Amino acid sequence: MHEVGIIESALEVIRREARTHQATRVTRVVMRIGAISGVDVDALRFGFEACTPGSIAEGAEFEIESIPARAHCKDCATDFTIESGFIFQCPHCGAFSGDVRSGKELELTRLEFATDTSPSDHVR
Ligand SMILES: [Zn+2]
Repeated sequence: MHEVGIIESALEVIRREARTHQATRVTRVVMRIGAISGVDVDALRFGFEACTPGSIAEGAEFEIESIPARAHCKDCATDFTIESGFIFQCPHCGAFSGDVRSGKELELTRLEFATDTSPSDHVR
């Protein structure tokens, strides 16, 4: 599954960042996913649940920021929202545009760490 690969590479970054911050746990992971990035958000959540047990991100809150897809029309200089698909038609003048300005995001945007002495630890 494509999404598991995304989580695995995210985990590599998370491990590296955690070492840099001398963190013992990761409490929160935020990813930014564009509407036309080709990523299935449910599969991504599933991948996170499947890949994190035993890792530093075990039990971390996983949050996804969805970014709407926007394209720019050169003919009338309007930015418009793309619902889906690969051919984008300007709703203003009807011209087709391949000038996508946002919606392809696939990035790790925020990480929150904790140390063993964190008072906000949950009792298990
Ligand atoms: Zn237009």
